[in-house]
Amino acid sequence: MRIRHLPETLINQIAAGEVIERPFAAVKELVENAIDAGASRIDISLRDGGKSLIVISDNGCGMGQEDLEAAVERHATSKLPENDLVHIEHMGFRGEALASIGAVARLKIMSREQGAAESFEINVEGGKKGDVMPSAHPLGTQIEVRDLFFATPARLKFLKSERSEYMAVKDVITRLAMAFPQIAFSLTHDEKVGLKLPATQDASSRLSAIMGKEFGENAMKIEAEREGLTLSGYAGLPTLHRGTAQHQYLFVNGRPVKDKLLTGCVRAAYADVLHGGRHPLLALSLHVPPEEVDVNVHPQKAEVRFRDPGLVRGLIISALKKAIHEHGGAASSSVSMQALGRFSPEHSASAGASAPSPSLPLTRSQGAPVPMSYARSGSGAPAYMPSYNSAMHDSQMAVFEPITPAHSQGSLAVDMAPAARFEAEANEIQEVRSDNFPLGSARAQLHQNYIVAQTSQGLVIVDQHAAHERLVYERFKAQMEERGIEKQGLLSPEIIELEERDAARLLKHSEALAKLGLEIEPFGAGAIAVQSLPALLGDKPNLQGLINDLVDELAEHGNALSLEERLNHILSTMACHGSIRSGRRMNADEMNALLRQMEQTPLSGQCNHGRPTYIELSLADIEKLFGRR
Ligand code: ADP
Ligand code: MG
Repeated sequence: MRIRHLPETLINQIAAGEVIERPFAAVKELVENAIDAGASRIDISLRDGGKSLIVISDNGCGMGQEDLEAAVERHATSKLPENDLVHIEHMGFRGEALASIGAVARLKIMSREQGAAESFEINVEGGKKGDVMPSAHPLGTQIEVRDLFFATPARLKFLKSERSEYMAVKDVITRLAMAFPQIAFSLTHDEKVGLKLPATQDASSRLSAIMGKEFGENAMKIEAEREGLTLSGYAGLPTLHRGTAQHQYLFVNGRPVKDKLLTGCVRAAYADVLHGGRHPLLALSLHVPPEEVDVNVHPQKAEVRFRDPGLVRGLIISALKKAIHEHGGAASSSVSMQALGRFSPEHSASAGASAPSPSLPLTRSQGAPVPMSYARSGSGAPAYMPSYNSAMHDSQMAVFEPITPAHSQGSLAVDMAPAARFEAEANEIQEVRSDNFPLGSARAQLHQNYIVAQTSQGLVIVDQHAAHERLVYERFKAQMEERGIEKQGLLSPEIIELEERDAARLLKHSEALAKLGLEIEPFGAGAIAVQSLPALLGDKPNLQGLINDLVDELAEHGNALSLEERLNHILSTMACHGSIRSGRRMNADEMNALLRQMEQTPLSGQCNHGRPTYIELSLADIEKLFGRR
């Protein structure tokens, strides 16, 4: 076999395999080119998920006759004038996109350079370049890509459904649009409008247009700095979550990236407050000195490499954790707003009626940060300050901050132990002078699970099981940090029957479980003997239920998680079993004690699974419901 140089067309097709993997990648490259051309308006339209047609037009600087000819050549770019790969100032720099697209599709470019009288066009089909010809195009550039991958049938076969190709396109445009609010974007698919984003100087209004109103109302502001790296943006409260990580946006030096690093950081930061499988919403922008990051590691520039990934991880995780802890008392407004919707008279009349909603702070603020512009300009803090719900007042936030860990509040801490002790007669509650506490004074227990409390501003409804679960969990963690978890030996071991496989799985973790106070031993095939329990679980926890849940927990996360994450999951499962179950009566003192404890406990706004532990209605909300406002 002789070694030979491959023909140009084949080289381009091979390169295209990496650069233009699917329609969204072609769209991404073309939109990035339009951004680089200084466009203030970019319109994208697709047919059949982009498989048969992609048209992108911009009002950018355009190209003259010679540039048009060079643009479709491989490694031809106007963006590295100094041959400097460190200080990259454009979205593009590889000079590969147009050549790659031309190699695998039918490409037509029409362009008129700024200030020029004529416009020109060029066609490239499956790598065959036509002549540059006069055209009739207004200022800017329009690029049409027909029959993507017609020249590489193998790739054509791997495309997904039109719907999912379209969704991928929409996602990529959304990410770019978030980074460039000053550019107007539109996207249509098969003649239907998919996105319409007017240009705006107010970055936060673009953010809210994309992330939605709910996010605006339930976002925590993130701002952190470490060794020349700055992080800013917004992260959703843990009570606002989704089934996918789709709504997590990261920008590095203004460039949208989809980096596993972010996913890992988010998981670590929210581990305590969000159950596995749920994902928070966030939009974060990281600015690092150019020498600290290499953007030239991924053919589609979707990933970046940091010189010191540990530093970046530390910065992101600690900033998110700090925000979560500072807002630990806040539950998402969507919860109480949805609840209000149920209450409202319109709702009963028409099922679709929307809940009364507080104004969206995002849209009102001026000069709030947006990924690209704010960190560049180094502008000050945005005016936008998330509001949790209309009832969450400054005074109340002040009471929640700074949060002191529960274990340091010796005198206030009620005995959280045996849940059974809360079993008592309590119905009519007499007034307790604690209206001034953030969570107010308990007035009643409803359906043996909901505590209704009066606050100075309105009322609060607490889910006693969810709340107690959080308290027990935080107690567990505090104990573990201080002196290890207190255990309580059983007089006679309790035998639990299990599937053989499950018993074996559990016993594999017996060492870790013992550290948490749960000592187990094998007891013949398919059974285990429980020797001791964490004292926090109380006298009579439902052992069979606890063990079953632990087996499920380990089966689900078993080896996938780090030891620390695993322990936290187990603690969280145990906390659930040590909690006051719904269906227990509580008297006024017990209820008030629970409320006071919640006020002292970090993250008490959510249970360990990210459900809210309480909702709050302000008097204003209530008055609205009765038409008094
Ligand atoms: P790169 O963006 O990495 O330079 P491309 O193959 O995407 O490589 O584009 C090649 C060149 O074509 C660019 O450097 C730019 O000069 C020119 N170009 C591409 N698209 C446009 C556009 N929409 N408007 C103006 N010039 C463009
Ligand atoms: Mg490009």
